[in-house]
Amino acid sequence: MFESNRIKDKKYIHSVNAKGIFDNTYETKLPQTVISDIILKHFENSKKKPKCLFIGWDGCRADAMKYIIKSDDEQVSGKNDTNIYSAIASLKDNGGLYITYVGGDKGCIQETSTAQGWASALCGKWMKKDWRQGIEWSLDKDYPTAMKSLALKGFKTSFSAIWQTHFDSTYIKEIEYAEQNGLSQLFCKFETDTELHSNLKERINSDDDFIMGIYENPDYNGHGTGFGDENYRYVAGVCNLDRFSYELLCEIKSREAFDSEDWLVVIASDHGGHLTRHGTQKIQDRTTFLALSKPIGDFIK
Ligand SMILES: [Zn+2]
Repeated sequence: MFESNRIKDKKYIHSVNAKGIFDNTYETKLPQTVISDIILKHFENSKKKPKCLFIGWDGCRADAMKYIIKSDDEQVSGKNDTNIYSAIASLKDNGGLYITYVGGDKGCIQETSTAQGWASALCGKWMKKDWRQGIEWSLDKDYPTAMKSLALKGFKTSFSAIWQTHFDSTYIKEIEYAEQNGLSQLFCKFETDTELHSNLKERINSDDDFIMGIYENPDYNGHGTGFGDENYRYVAGVCNLDRFSYELLCEIKSREAFDSEDWLVVIASDHGGHLTRHGTQKIQDRTTFLALSKPIGDFIK
């Protein structure tokens, strides 16, 4: 059946606004640029030893949260109880789950793609005018990531990912700066989500203070067979990633020093998707999610 874009948008907004899933609404969605501020504030204000794990779910649409979190509206989330092994549910219980957006603001529109998405989350800014489209650019000194800001303060950081462009373009100047100045910023490249996952467990046990890892399966399935509800492969990829992420939460809790540490866990996506693509200003591409292990009110008023 043919559905107009207007009807698709209306359905999308209805499903993210379904009661019980998010702690804000589509109308009060937050720019993804808050993520960097939240991380830096956590390190500034913590009374114990601050630590942060940032788990990236590349290409996970915001409306995918209904596969994971039970809504009061059974028409949206079905009669499914929230899985006790869900990372998102665990963060939501202690902190919150919020609707966010990528792709820039009026007058400063950027592509809803991977390079721009993670860079804006990590730098807390929308990109320069000539960076907003395309990926052939590198963050310069005016765009320090949370990794760099923390490493300059003496914290040990790591960034693990699969997509080669992170290492060849987006963060190359930052990688060089860290090497030249002896900053504790580790950059690790992997081939699969499984490899990345083992590495993140290792990073947690290697005493890194800030750990970022970006899983690719939602984006991979989206490009391969379609983003969104109609594709069971996409849905399964998101739910499996939730379970993978839960294992990382367990890894943190089993740290010997856990009681003397103050962990902030962040799970977020860099863009959504529609059909088998993203990059546009459609709401299905622009709308993302942010799960935090502490209420957002602890960081922003
Ligand atoms: Zn993609």
